[in-house]
Amino acid sequence: YHAWYEQRTPASKQAAAEAEAVIPGGVQHNLALNDPWPLSVVRAEGAYLHDADGNRYIDFLQAGGPTVLGSNPPAVRAKVLELLEHCGPVTGMLHPAETRLAKLIHDFMPAVHKFRMLGSGTEAVMAAIRAARAHTGKAHIIKVGGAYHGWSDQVVYGLRIPGTGSLEAAGIPKTALANTAETAPGDLEALRARLAANAAEGGTAAVIVEPVGPESGTHPVTREFNAQVRELCDEFGTLLIFDEVVTGFRLGMGGAQGYYEVTPDLTVFGKCVAGGYPGAGGVGGREEVMAAFAGGLTAAGQRALTGGTLSANPLSCTAGYHTLLEMDRLDAPAKAGAAGDRLREGLDALIARYELPYVTYNFGSIVHLHTSGVLHLSLNDPEFFDKLGPRKDMLEHMSMAFAAEGVITLAGSRIYTSMADTDDVVDEALAAFER
Ligand code: PMP
Repeated sequence: YHAWYEQRTPASKQAAAEAEAVIPGGVQHNLALNDPWPLSVVRAEGAYLHDADGNRYIDFLQAGGPTVLGSNPPAVRAKVLELLEHCGPVTGMLHPAETRLAKLIHDFMPAVHKFRMLGSGTEAVMAAIRAARAHTGKAHIIKVGGAYHGWSDQVVYGLRIPGTGSLEAAGIPKTALANTAETAPGDLEALRARLAANAAEGGTAAVIVEPVGPESGTHPVTREFNAQVRELCDEFGTLLIFDEVVTGFRLGMGGAQGYYEVTPDLTVFGKCVAGGYPGAGGVGGREEVMAAFAGGLTAAGQRALTGGTLSANPLSCTAGYHTLLEMDRLDAPAKAGAAGDRLREGLDALIARYELPYVTYNFGSIVHLHTSGVLHLSLNDPEFFDKLGPRKDMLEHMSMAFAAEGVITLAGSRIYTSMADTDDVVDEALAAFER
């Protein structure tokens, strides 16, 4: 496929060389789409991306998840342009769109009584942990191994660079991780043991989970797991945080909490909450927990701080509000999910026909295509990360080979579908995967 890039993507090659001079590593996004060089994408519309050389790609990256309507939907764009005409992107004052968005989220997810808009999923996780600690007066948090909750110091624990065994923890002092523990996906006994051990040290403020399993379900958990974690949290006086940065509105307008019928204390939002516009983050949940952010003092005599010059700006809130309205009106999660089902069934058929050692499964519009054996490994295995050795190269090769055939994926192993993925688009993609 390198020959294809040489012939077909000279403008991207040039753009990559220019970026290399001023951007560390020459790329800011999508670390798995760079061999031989990253593609310079200059147009995005519905189901398609177009690069600087005029090549067209089916877009199964969908920017990493926020665009369930497809890229740059005209109805949302019109509302954003209207706002820019009248108000501009930011004033630092209260704007009606903030309240409208918070109300709408509560309509879809009744457990989100109060909602605070922030700048990103990473910030929203930080805020959720802070609120949990302020409310419970406890310091420890527990996350599930392999889960991604953004890049703040305290949750990077355990994230490894695939294939190297090295922690992605350069620049993070060990003390920053002192109150963070990890247990393996699905391992309730380990979670109970950790909660009990923490109880002897002042207790656990929160357990944070990605409800479909770590890394958007790369390590899937059973359907019962979330309910069982809920019970354990109640037993230990610990709050349950659902990280719905990916699943929120994508799995359904009720999110994973609707899908699994489990009520978390706090929910973390990102991506969809600003409909693909910047400033996509928020935390919401039980009134008495969210009260930590109300400006007053908690029982412990302290106040929990959130901030952000651009947090809850009119542009993000307007884009988020109209995106969610439009998604609901058009039944976008179900349509994107149907595209995911069709794609996964087609991939299964190809895998069977060519007898490939691959595995696929999907949660609606979150589709996994594992070509590197990750599912055969247990996160409990102490050599897990060493055994993942070939994975990084494999993912890079698969993602670039798919792109050369006209399909952009997330790291060659995950696919986000949108409602712009009609049957024709999915069939075109399946033909590309077959090639
Ligand atoms: N949590 C999860 C589950 C995510 O997938 C991500 C981003 N991929 C984040 C948190 C962080 O969100 P952001 O990139 O907006 O900081």
